[in-house]
Amino acid sequence: MRRRVTAPLRCRVAILMYHRVFETSSDPWELCVSPKHFAHQLELLRRSYPVLSLQQLLSALKTRQLPKRAVVLTFDDGYADNLWNAKPLLEKYELPATVFVTGASLDSLSEFWWDELERILLQPGKRPKRLHLNVCGRAYNLETTNLEERMIAYMALHNILQPLRSTERDPIMDELFAWAALDPTGRADYRSLATDELIQLAQSEWVDIGAHAVTHPFLSVMSPEDQSAEIVGSRKKLEDILGNCVDAFSYPYGNFSAETVRIVAAAGFVTALTTDDRAVRAGENPLQLGRFGVGDWDGDRFKHCLDKFFYS
Ligand SMILES: [Zn+2]
Repeated sequence: MRRRVTAPLRCRVAILMYHRVFETSSDPWELCVSPKHFAHQLELLRRSYPVLSLQQLLSALKTRQLPKRAVVLTFDDGYADNLWNAKPLLEKYELPATVFVTGASLDSLSEFWWDELERILLQPGKRPKRLHLNVCGRAYNLETTNLEERMIAYMALHNILQPLRSTERDPIMDELFAWAALDPTGRADYRSLATDELIQLAQSEWVDIGAHAVTHPFLSVMSPEDQSAEIVGSRKKLEDILGNCVDAFSYPYGNFSAETVRIVAAAGFVTALTTDDRAVRAGENPLQLGRFGVGDWDGDRFKHCLDKFFYS
C-alpha cells in the first residue's frame, strides 16, 4: 500500500527573499515591499508561522528535524532602508532576519546599476527618441519615444548589462546618464547602507549579516580566481567592520556554477542561498538553499502565496 506523502510535505521551510522596505510606484523587478505591507506580513508571520533564524534552520537541517511550515526571512543587497524601515518592524514583531550585504556598495553615493537604469529610462522627464549604444563590440539601436518603448529598452538593456563586470558596465552607465542628461549622483532613498549604519543594523538582536560578494557580479562567468576574490573579499570586508564571523552567503542574481559552490565552501561559508523557488526539505545541501521572492502584497495575498511556497 502506498503511503500518503502529506506529512513530509508539511515539514518544509520557506526562506523568503526581500530586498527593500520602501514605497514606490516604479519597481520593474518587484524589489520593494511598502512599510505598511511589510508590517502586515510580519504580523501574520508572528501570529501563524514559526519564524527561524538562518542559524536555527541550519541546526534543524543537521538533525534532519525541520519544523512544520516554518519561515526564514532574508534581505539581499544591503539597502539603507533595511536599517531605517525593516529593522524597527523586525524588532517590533520580534522576528529574526539575515541581511546579505554587497561589499563595494557600502558608503557608495551611487545607486545599484539596475536602479540607475530605472531612473534613466523609466522615471518621468524628457528623453531623446532613440538610444544608440555599443556594448562589447555590438551596436544596439533602441526606440525610446514613450514609456512603453522605454520599458522594452529597459528590459533589453538589463539583460545586456547584467553579466558584465562592473568595470565594463560603469562606462556604459556614464554614457546612459549623459544620453538622458541626468546627474549620476544617486537618489538619497535608493542608497546602500553606510558603514556606521551597517554596524547599527548588526547590533540588533534580530538581525544577522551575511555576504553578497564585493561588486554583485554574475559569478558563473568569472574565472575561479576572480570568483574567489569576490566571495572571500566580501566576507573579509564585513568581518573587518563587524568584528565577528560572517558565514552565510547569498549568490548575486541567484547565479552560480558548481565551481562557485566549491569556492563558497572553501571560503568557509556554512550556507549559501540561491533564488530558486524551492522550499527547504530535510537532507538539503545547505550551500544551495532555495528562496521565494516576496512582492508588495497585503496580508491575504501574502498568506495565499506562503501556503503555496511550502508545496514548491
Ligand atoms: Zn542582489
